[in-house]
Amino acid sequence: MNNADFVARDLAVLWHPCTQMQDHEWLPLVPIRRGAGVWLEDYDGKRYLDAISSWWVNLFGHVNPRISAAVATQASQLEHVIFGGFSHEPALLLAERLVALTPPTLSRCFFADNGSAAVEVALKMSYHYWRNSGIAGKSRVINLTGAYHGETLGALGMGDVGLYRDAYAELLRAPITAPSPDAYARERGESWAAVAQRRLADMQALLERHAHEVCAVIIEPLVQCAGGMRMHHADYLTGLRALCDRYQVHLIADEIAVGFGRTGTLFACEQAGIAPDFLCLSKGLTGGYLPLAVVLTTDTVYQAFYAEYASERAFLHSHSYTGNPLGCAAALATLDIFATEPVLERNRALAAAMARQTAHLVDHPHIAEVRQTGMILAIELVRDKASRAPFPWQERRGLRVYQHGLEQGVLLRPLGNVVYFMPPYVITEDEIAHLARVACRGIDLAVAD
Ligand code: PMP
Repeated sequence: MNNADFVARDLAVLWHPCTQMQDHEWLPLVPIRRGAGVWLEDYDGKRYLDAISSWWVNLFGHVNPRISAAVATQASQLEHVIFGGFSHEPALLLAERLVALTPPTLSRCFFADNGSAAVEVALKMSYHYWRNSGIAGKSRVINLTGAYHGETLGALGMGDVGLYRDAYAELLRAPITAPSPDAYARERGESWAAVAQRRLADMQALLERHAHEVCAVIIEPLVQCAGGMRMHHADYLTGLRALCDRYQVHLIADEIAVGFGRTGTLFACEQAGIAPDFLCLSKGLTGGYLPLAVVLTTDTVYQAFYAEYASERAFLHSHSYTGNPLGCAAALATLDIFATEPVLERNRALAAAMARQTAHLVDHPHIAEVRQTGMILAIELVRDKASRAPFPWQERRGLRVYQHGLEQGVLLRPLGNVVYFMPPYVITEDEIAHLARVACRGIDLAVAD
């Protein structure tokens, strides 16, 4: 089968995510036959460098020998078992390791099977905690402008990206939205840290008014990814933790995209020295192999549910594939790589290479900013550099960069007008140079005319 044959059959029966399917009348759909490291290969034998880790899930390359072997071994022993009333070794070992790797106050793991489901779990647990504790009325959540927490209705309700949210607004429970500490929105001459302080004051004002009806604040620590790779200073997290304590609301850290080394530390919250009440993890948890998610929480939360059955305090949330052993085996193999290789140290060198290869873009007339947090580098395209006026979204400039990337064998998938690199950690410096060359040329073509 070649690409054309595949695509004809695909478009007859499949409906792809996050896609206006009509685009595929002119935009090639790319069928992938196999992967190896940072490379993907299509049915015509063309190769693509996966610069976005296949929606930010892949950490150590496609078909990583260690993770593949672990999944194969597990598949020959136990593929799945009901997780209510039953248990298994991969889930136990994984929970023990996650508890050891995260702050000491996080002592309980509740598994789910994708990021959105993890967010739902954290939201329900937080609300239910206050209810079980006899504190009524804490049923609202504070989120941030530009936030993204997933696509199921509860998680989507916590998002603030109109593209995903607006069509479903009537179905969603409205959060209370605080202004993001996004440093791109800084005043001229203002530091990232100063923006954080200003936004903490806004958050405090909201909490002052609403804390009595709020169960939790939810945040993507350090980088709001789907909202356009918008970044903030770690001081915001430190200050937010203090505010949540002071006003008696939970802090939910959604590290689904930024966990597992993306921001330079194993978890982003480490850079602020804080522990959330709920830590949501998914994506890189399995190295990009299988859908698995986990919510870590505290003993205080756990104890509020721990009671005689008739008290009706239990957390009865369930997914059929909770704690799937294959996913847990992939996650254990992923954690083994972190434990036995200097991953974070290597990433520092790779992050520096990404910065070097894009340094010249600061003077580009249609680039407002090149920003970076660890292994995430983002390039903000604008119509006018001085005023930072964006290109109208209808012009789909980012899509032109995507098309150029495909032609040149690089998978970039800009978020609107934000071109970003978020590659697997096994990328080489030469591959980063190649990726940057293709992206820069693509940007030049996309902003012309
Ligand atoms: N939270 C964040 C911060 C995410 O980036 C995503 C996925 N892009 C999700 C939640 C949802 O995860 P999933 O796609 O696995 O449902």
